[in-house]
Amino acid sequence: MNRTIGAATRVYALLGDPVSHSRSPDMVNAAFAEQGIDAVYVALRCTEADVPTLVRTIAHTGGGGNITVPHKARARTAIDRPSEAVVRTGACNTFWARDGLVYGDNTDVEGVHVATSALIGSAAGIRVLLLGAGGAARAAAWALIEAGAARVDVLNRTPHRAAQLVHGLGTARLRVAHQIGSADLLVNATTLGLRPHDRLPMRENMLPHFGAVLDLVYQPDETPLVRAARQAGVPAMDGTVMLLAQGAAAYRCWTGRDAPLEVMRAALDAGGADPVGRAAAGADYD
Ligand code: NAP
Repeated sequence: MNRTIGAATRVYALLGDPVSHSRSPDMVNAAFAEQGIDAVYVALRCTEADVPTLVRTIAHTGGGGNITVPHKARARTAIDRPSEAVVRTGACNTFWARDGLVYGDNTDVEGVHVATSALIGSAAGIRVLLLGAGGAARAAAWALIEAGAARVDVLNRTPHRAAQLVHGLGTARLRVAHQIGSADLLVNATTLGLRPHDRLPMRENMLPHFGAVLDLVYQPDETPLVRAARQAGVPAMDGTVMLLAQGAAAYRCWTGRDAPLEVMRAALDAGGADPVGRAAAGADYD
């Protein structure tokens, strides 16, 4: 679909470093075109110091955008009206302005809710082993607590980051784990699986100890963890559903409309020929 960029066109941006290989521009521009919204979505590689100015300027000129690694925490400082997800996770991945105030949300939380529901139905009462303690793990931990998980054990390569995550979210249902145990759901929120020769985040023979596996890593084909889990007879899902859901939630924040999911998924599929190469180059995936 042809679009004309003119004086009324609003600018939406992904702010991060790196951003050059992000799929968000494909996904969001396809949605704008489908719904005839006069806006363009671009990726801007920027320093952390520039994030607050960019967020406020873009929002106050009628646009908005997303924040990705490693600026989600810094972006939070630029927000006048943070959502509960932003307050809880200390991270903002979506911004826009209304009535002169800058609003922020962390739609990764919604992304994990949607992906978890699609994989296992309800998370109420379940036990979870969460691998990783970065931004995605923080969103996943809060989403699972919000969904009523009985217990979320957080295991990370660098233990003190797991302790920080647990302390930051402040609920007795979250604990630091020191080894792999069994659980109803395993969530991989590490970057393992992005690069061609990454090892699995755990020994393969441990996989039958889990009722289901949610890998936040996304690839057009199965991720190594998803493939190994399915081979072990464990239901598994990669990060595609989360990617779409967090994007759709951001789109709703900006436009007030439901996102055209099929169009966004098709744009992702069309633009996603070489995720491993992108990851190897250090690209972000949200
Ligand atoms: P991040 O903040 O950089 O955190 C990375 C995590 O991976 C940390 O816990 C880190 O452990 C761990 N890690 C890195 N290399 C490791 C290794 N060799 N062995 C063990 N652990 C390792 O990244 P993030 O933003 O949380 O993203 C994490 C993953 O989620 C990425 O794969 C990203 O693509 C994915 N994600 C997906 C979506 C989606 O929509 N599907 C959205 C957001 C993120 P240390 O603390 O020890 O460094």
